Amino acid sequence: MLAALFSLALSAEAQADTLTVYSARNEQLLKPLLDQFTKNSGTQVQLLTASEAALLARLSAEGASSPADVLITVDAGNLWQAVQKNLLQPLASGVLEKNIPAHLRDPANHWFGMSVRARTIVYSKARVPAGMLSTYEDLADPKWRGKLCLRTSKKVYNQSLVAMMMQDLGEAKTEAVVKGWVANLATDVFSDDTALLKAIAAGQCQVGIANTYYLARLLQADAAFPVGLFWANQATTGVHVNVSGAGVARHSKNPALARKFLEFLSSDEAQKIYSDKDLEFPANPAVAADSIIKSWGSFKPNVINVSKAGELQAAATRLMDRAGYR
Ligand code: FE
Repeated sequence: MLAALFSLALSAEAQADTLTVYSARNEQLLKPLLDQFTKNSGTQVQLLTASEAALLARLSAEGASSPADVLITVDAGNLWQAVQKNLLQPLASGVLEKNIPAHLRDPANHWFGMSVRARTIVYSKARVPAGMLSTYEDLADPKWRGKLCLRTSKKVYNQSLVAMMMQDLGEAKTEAVVKGWVANLATDVFSDDTALLKAIAAGQCQVGIANTYYLARLLQADAAFPVGLFWANQATTGVHVNVSGAGVARHSKNPALARKFLEFLSSDEAQKIYSDKDLEFPANPAVAADSIIKSWGSFKPNVINVSKAGELQAAATRLMDRAGYR
Protein backbone atom coordinates (compact mmCIF):
# COMPACT_ATOMS: atom_id res chain seq x y z
CA MET A 1 0.00 0.00 0.00
CA LEU A 2 2.73 2.41 1.07
CA ALA A 3 4.84 1.36 -1.86
CA ALA A 4 1.93 1.99 -4.19
CA LEU A 5 1.38 5.45 -2.72
CA PHE A 6 5.06 6.19 -2.97
CA SER A 7 5.23 5.27 -6.62
CA LEU A 8 2.11 7.33 -7.35
CA ALA A 9 3.68 10.34 -5.63
CA LEU A 10 6.86 9.79 -7.61
CA SER A 11 5.13 9.69 -10.95
CA ALA A 12 3.14 12.83 -10.08
CA GLU A 13 6.41 14.55 -9.23
CA ALA A 14 8.05 13.31 -12.40
CA GLN A 15 5.09 14.69 -14.32
CA ALA A 16 5.42 18.07 -12.65
CA ASP A 17 9.00 18.28 -13.91
CA THR A 18 8.18 17.12 -17.41
CA LEU A 19 6.87 19.36 -20.13
CA THR A 20 4.89 17.69 -22.89
CA VAL A 21 5.20 19.40 -26.25
CA TYR A 22 3.07 18.56 -29.30
CA SER A 23 4.86 19.81 -32.37
CA ALA A 24 4.25 19.92 -36.08
CA ARG A 25 7.78 21.17 -36.65
CA ASN A 26 10.62 19.10 -38.00
CA GLU A 27 12.10 17.39 -34.92
CA GLN A 28 15.64 18.11 -36.07
CA LEU A 29 14.90 21.84 -36.07
CA LEU A 30 13.22 21.83 -32.68
CA LYS A 31 15.72 19.62 -30.84
CA PRO A 32 18.41 22.26 -30.18
CA LEU A 33 15.78 24.49 -28.56
CA LEU A 34 14.42 21.72 -26.35
CA ASP A 35 17.92 20.64 -25.31
CA GLN A 36 18.84 24.18 -24.32
CA PHE A 37 15.64 24.54 -22.29
CA THR A 38 16.39 21.28 -20.43
CA LYS A 39 19.95 22.41 -19.80
CA ASN A 40 18.81 25.76 -18.38
CA SER A 41 15.85 24.60 -16.33
CA GLY A 42 16.38 20.90 -15.54
CA THR A 43 12.94 20.26 -17.07
CA GLN A 44 12.62 17.15 -19.20
CA VAL A 45 10.67 17.62 -22.40
CA GLN A 46 8.45 14.92 -23.87
CA LEU A 47 8.06 15.57 -27.57
CA LEU A 48 5.30 14.28 -29.79
CA THR A 49 5.76 15.13 -33.46
CA ALA A 50 3.03 14.76 -36.07
CA SER A 51 1.42 16.69 -38.92
CA GLU A 52 -0.62 19.79 -38.03
CA ALA A 53 -3.92 18.12 -38.87
CA ALA A 54 -3.07 15.00 -36.83
CA LEU A 55 -2.00 17.05 -33.81
CA LEU A 56 -5.13 19.19 -33.81
CA ALA A 57 -7.33 16.11 -34.18
CA ARG A 58 -5.48 14.40 -31.36
CA LEU A 59 -5.76 17.38 -29.01
CA SER A 60 -9.50 17.58 -29.74
CA ALA A 61 -10.00 13.87 -29.12
CA GLU A 62 -7.97 13.83 -25.90
CA GLY A 63 -9.88 16.77 -24.44
CA ALA A 64 -9.33 17.33 -20.72
CA SER A 65 -7.19 14.21 -20.39
CA SER A 66 -4.58 15.45 -22.88
CA PRO A 67 -1.01 15.34 -21.57
CA ALA A 68 -0.04 18.25 -23.85
CA ASP A 69 1.29 21.41 -22.22
CA VAL A 70 2.41 23.26 -25.33
CA LEU A 71 1.48 23.21 -29.02
CA ILE A 72 4.14 24.27 -31.52
CA THR A 73 3.31 24.64 -35.17
CA VAL A 74 4.08 26.63 -38.27
CA ASP A 75 1.84 29.13 -39.98
CA ALA A 76 -0.69 31.47 -38.43
CA GLY A 77 -3.37 29.61 -40.38
CA ASN A 78 -2.76 26.51 -38.26
CA LEU A 79 -2.49 28.48 -35.01
CA TRP A 80 -5.74 30.24 -35.84
CA GLN A 81 -7.42 26.85 -36.36
CA ALA A 82 -6.18 25.66 -32.98
CA VAL A 83 -7.84 28.70 -31.37
CA GLN A 84 -11.08 28.10 -33.31
CA LYS A 85 -11.13 24.53 -31.99
CA ASN A 86 -10.58 25.83 -28.45
CA LEU A 87 -7.31 23.91 -28.05
CA LEU A 88 -5.23 26.76 -26.60
CA GLN A 89 -5.52 28.89 -23.48
CA PRO A 90 -4.66 32.57 -23.25
CA LEU A 91 -1.39 33.44 -21.57
CA ALA A 92 -0.63 36.75 -19.89
CA SER A 93 3.12 37.31 -19.89
CA GLY A 94 4.92 40.63 -19.74
CA VAL A 95 8.04 38.88 -21.06
CA LEU A 96 6.27 37.64 -24.20
CA GLU A 97 4.55 40.97 -24.75
CA LYS A 98 7.90 42.69 -24.58
CA ASN A 99 9.77 40.19 -26.78
CA ILE A 100 7.21 39.51 -29.52
CA PRO A 101 5.77 42.38 -31.62
CA ALA A 102 1.98 42.69 -31.57
CA HIS A 103 1.41 41.78 -35.24
CA LEU A 104 3.21 38.45 -34.68
CA ARG A 105 0.97 37.19 -31.88
CA ASP A 106 -2.69 36.38 -31.36
CA PRO A 107 -4.55 39.55 -30.32
CA ALA A 108 -6.04 37.50 -27.43
CA ASN A 109 -2.67 35.92 -26.47
CA HIS A 110 -3.53 32.31 -27.31
CA TRP A 111 -0.33 31.96 -29.32
CA PHE A 112 2.91 33.80 -29.98
CA GLY A 113 4.99 33.86 -33.15
CA MET A 114 8.49 32.68 -32.29
CA SER A 115 10.13 32.93 -35.69
CA VAL A 116 9.25 34.82 -38.83
CA ARG A 117 9.28 33.29 -42.25
CA ALA A 118 9.13 35.48 -45.33
CA ARG A 119 7.57 34.10 -48.52
CA THR A 120 8.88 36.03 -51.47
CA ILE A 121 9.97 35.88 -55.11
CA VAL A 122 12.92 33.68 -56.11
CA TYR A 123 14.50 33.72 -59.54
CA SER A 124 17.19 32.32 -61.80
CA LYS A 125 20.22 34.58 -61.57
CA ALA A 126 21.35 33.37 -64.99
CA ARG A 127 18.04 33.99 -66.80
CA VAL A 128 16.20 36.82 -65.07
CA PRO A 129 17.48 40.37 -64.63
CA ALA A 130 16.37 41.47 -61.14
CA GLY A 131 14.98 44.65 -62.75
CA MET A 132 12.22 42.51 -64.31
CA LEU A 133 10.80 41.62 -60.90
CA SER A 134 8.34 43.63 -58.83
CA THR A 135 5.32 42.04 -57.17
CA TYR A 136 3.49 38.73 -56.58
CA GLU A 137 0.76 40.13 -58.82
CA ASP A 138 3.23 40.76 -61.64
CA LEU A 139 3.98 37.02 -61.80
CA ALA A 140 0.54 36.75 -63.45
CA ASP A 141 1.71 38.92 -66.36
CA PRO A 142 1.93 37.09 -69.74
CA LYS A 143 5.66 37.97 -69.91
CA TRP A 144 6.16 35.02 -67.50
CA ARG A 145 4.23 32.52 -69.68
CA GLY A 146 5.80 29.07 -69.27
CA LYS A 147 8.40 30.41 -66.83
CA LEU A 148 6.74 30.24 -63.41
CA CYS A 149 7.11 27.48 -60.81
CA LEU A 150 4.73 27.21 -57.84
CA ARG A 151 4.34 24.88 -54.91
CA THR A 152 0.99 23.15 -54.49
CA SER A 153 -1.99 25.19 -53.26
CA LYS A 154 -2.59 22.42 -50.70
CA LYS A 155 0.28 23.81 -48.64
CA VAL A 156 -0.89 26.21 -45.96
CA TYR A 157 1.93 28.63 -46.86
CA ASN A 158 0.28 29.38 -50.19
CA GLN A 159 -3.18 29.50 -48.64
CA SER A 160 -1.88 32.15 -46.23
CA LEU A 161 -0.19 34.10 -49.02
CA VAL A 162 -3.39 34.17 -51.07
CA ALA A 163 -5.41 35.04 -47.94
CA MET A 164 -3.18 38.07 -47.39
CA MET A 165 -3.61 39.11 -51.02
CA MET A 166 -7.39 38.86 -50.62
CA GLN A 167 -7.14 41.15 -47.63
CA ASP A 168 -5.04 43.69 -49.57
CA LEU A 169 -6.50 43.47 -53.10
CA GLY A 170 -9.98 42.10 -52.63
CA GLU A 171 -11.33 38.80 -53.91
CA ALA A 172 -11.90 39.55 -57.61
CA LYS A 173 -8.45 41.01 -58.20
CA THR A 174 -6.76 38.20 -56.28
CA GLU A 175 -8.62 35.59 -58.30
CA ALA A 176 -7.48 37.20 -61.55
CA VAL A 177 -3.88 37.11 -60.28
CA VAL A 178 -4.06 33.45 -59.29
CA LYS A 179 -5.57 32.57 -62.70
CA GLY A 180 -2.64 34.40 -64.31
CA TRP A 181 -0.17 32.40 -62.21
CA VAL A 182 -1.77 29.15 -63.32
CA ALA A 183 -1.61 30.25 -66.96
CA ASN A 184 2.10 30.98 -66.54
CA LEU A 185 3.13 27.67 -64.97
CA ALA A 186 6.15 26.00 -66.57
CA THR A 187 5.29 22.62 -65.11
CA ASP A 188 3.08 20.85 -62.52
CA VAL A 189 3.05 22.36 -59.04
CA PHE A 190 5.73 21.12 -56.64
CA SER A 191 5.21 19.35 -53.33
CA ASP A 192 7.87 21.42 -51.57
CA ASP A 193 9.85 24.63 -51.85
CA THR A 194 13.23 22.91 -52.09
CA ALA A 195 12.21 21.01 -55.23
CA LEU A 196 10.92 24.28 -56.69
CA LEU A 197 14.21 26.07 -56.00
CA LYS A 198 16.15 23.21 -57.58
CA ALA A 199 13.90 23.39 -60.65
CA ILE A 200 14.78 27.07 -61.04
CA ALA A 201 18.48 26.25 -60.64
CA ALA A 202 18.14 23.54 -63.29
CA GLY A 203 16.44 25.88 -65.76
CA GLN A 204 13.03 24.16 -65.71
CA CYS A 205 11.52 27.51 -64.82
CA GLN A 206 12.85 31.02 -64.17
CA VAL A 207 10.85 32.45 -61.32
CA GLY A 208 8.83 31.27 -58.33
CA ILE A 209 7.69 31.92 -54.77
CA ALA A 210 9.37 30.33 -51.75
CA ASN A 211 10.09 30.73 -48.05
CA THR A 212 13.51 32.26 -47.57
CA TYR A 213 14.89 29.61 -45.17
CA TYR A 214 14.70 26.93 -47.88
CA LEU A 215 16.94 29.06 -50.08
CA ALA A 216 19.19 29.82 -47.10
CA ARG A 217 19.69 26.08 -46.48
CA LEU A 218 20.61 25.47 -50.13
CA LEU A 219 23.03 28.42 -50.03
CA GLN A 220 24.56 27.14 -46.81
CA ALA A 221 25.32 23.86 -48.60
CA ASP A 222 26.49 25.58 -51.81
CA ALA A 223 27.26 29.30 -51.80
CA ALA A 224 27.10 29.29 -55.63
CA PHE A 225 23.52 27.97 -55.81
CA PRO A 226 22.26 30.07 -58.75
CA VAL A 227 18.93 31.26 -57.36
CA GLY A 228 18.42 34.84 -56.21
CA LEU A 229 15.94 36.30 -53.78
CA PHE A 230 13.83 39.35 -54.51
CA TRP A 231 11.82 41.23 -51.88
CA ALA A 232 8.32 41.45 -53.37
CA ASN A 233 5.87 44.36 -53.18
CA GLN A 234 8.28 46.81 -51.60
CA ALA A 235 6.54 49.83 -53.14
CA THR A 236 3.10 48.57 -52.08
CA THR A 237 1.92 46.04 -49.49
CA GLY A 238 5.23 44.50 -48.43
CA VAL A 239 6.55 40.94 -48.30
CA HIS A 240 4.19 38.25 -47.01
CA VAL A 241 5.44 37.13 -43.62
CA ASN A 242 4.15 34.34 -41.47
CA VAL A 243 5.24 32.76 -38.21
CA SER A 244 6.06 29.54 -36.53
CA GLY A 245 4.54 29.83 -33.11
CA ALA A 246 3.57 28.27 -29.83
CA GLY A 247 0.70 28.35 -27.38
CA VAL A 248 -0.26 26.75 -24.08
CA ALA A 249 -2.55 23.75 -24.50
CA ARG A 250 -6.08 24.28 -23.20
CA HIS A 251 -5.83 21.42 -20.67
CA SER A 252 -2.17 21.74 -19.65
CA LYS A 253 -1.54 20.42 -16.13
CA ASN A 254 1.59 22.59 -15.94
CA PRO A 255 0.63 26.04 -17.23
CA ALA A 256 3.38 27.74 -15.18
CA LEU A 257 6.01 25.49 -16.74
CA ALA A 258 4.48 25.98 -20.19
CA ARG A 259 4.73 29.72 -19.69
CA LYS A 260 8.39 29.40 -18.68
CA PHE A 261 9.03 27.44 -21.87
CA LEU A 262 7.31 29.99 -24.12
CA GLU A 263 9.20 32.82 -22.42
CA PHE A 264 12.41 30.87 -23.04
CA LEU A 265 11.53 30.49 -26.75
CA SER A 266 11.21 34.28 -27.02
CA SER A 267 14.53 34.92 -25.24
CA ASP A 268 17.73 36.07 -26.96
CA GLU A 269 19.29 32.64 -26.46
CA ALA A 270 16.47 30.69 -28.13
CA GLN A 271 15.85 33.30 -30.80
CA LYS A 272 19.48 32.95 -31.89
CA ILE A 273 18.94 29.22 -32.30
CA TYR A 274 15.89 29.85 -34.51
CA SER A 275 18.03 32.10 -36.66
CA ASP A 276 21.33 30.16 -36.74
CA LYS A 277 19.99 26.61 -36.91
CA ASP A 278 16.64 27.03 -38.65
CA LEU A 279 17.67 30.05 -40.78
CA GLU A 280 14.42 31.82 -40.00
CA PHE A 281 14.10 35.43 -38.89
CA PRO A 282 13.98 35.93 -35.13
CA ALA A 283 10.53 37.17 -34.04
CA ASN A 284 12.22 39.15 -31.27
CA PRO A 285 13.50 42.28 -33.04
CA ALA A 286 16.34 42.66 -30.53
CA VAL A 287 18.06 39.53 -31.89
CA ALA A 288 20.30 39.63 -34.99
CA ALA A 289 19.65 37.22 -37.88
CA ASP A 290 22.16 34.75 -39.37
CA SER A 291 24.69 36.12 -41.90
CA ILE A 292 23.11 34.52 -45.01
CA ILE A 293 19.79 36.09 -44.03
CA LYS A 294 21.43 39.41 -43.32
CA SER A 295 23.04 39.39 -46.77
CA TRP A 296 19.56 39.77 -48.31
CA GLY A 297 19.19 43.15 -46.62
CA SER A 298 16.20 44.51 -44.81
CA PHE A 299 12.74 44.49 -46.34
CA LYS A 300 9.33 45.94 -45.75
CA PRO A 301 7.00 43.23 -44.42
CA ASN A 302 3.25 43.16 -44.76
CA VAL A 303 2.19 44.03 -41.21
CA ILE A 304 -1.44 42.95 -41.29
CA ASN A 305 -1.80 40.82 -38.15
CA VAL A 306 -0.87 37.31 -39.22
CA SER A 307 -4.05 35.87 -37.70
CA LYS A 308 -5.91 37.35 -40.72
CA ALA A 309 -4.39 34.54 -42.75
CA GLY A 310 -6.30 32.06 -40.63
CA GLU A 311 -9.59 33.85 -40.90
CA LEU A 312 -9.41 33.96 -44.68
CA GLN A 313 -7.85 30.52 -45.17
CA ALA A 314 -11.00 28.68 -46.23
CA ALA A 315 -11.99 31.44 -48.67
CA ALA A 316 -8.45 31.45 -50.09
CA THR A 317 -8.58 27.69 -50.63
CA ARG A 318 -11.90 28.01 -52.50
CA LEU A 319 -10.51 30.85 -54.60
CA MET A 320 -7.43 28.83 -55.61
CA ASP A 321 -9.66 25.91 -56.49
CA ARG A 322 -11.85 28.10 -58.73
CA ALA A 323 -8.73 29.50 -60.39
CA GLY A 324 -7.52 25.99 -61.24
CA TYR A 325 -4.47 26.19 -58.95
CA ARG A 326 -3.87 22.58 -57.88
FE1 FE B 1 8.62 25.04 -44.18
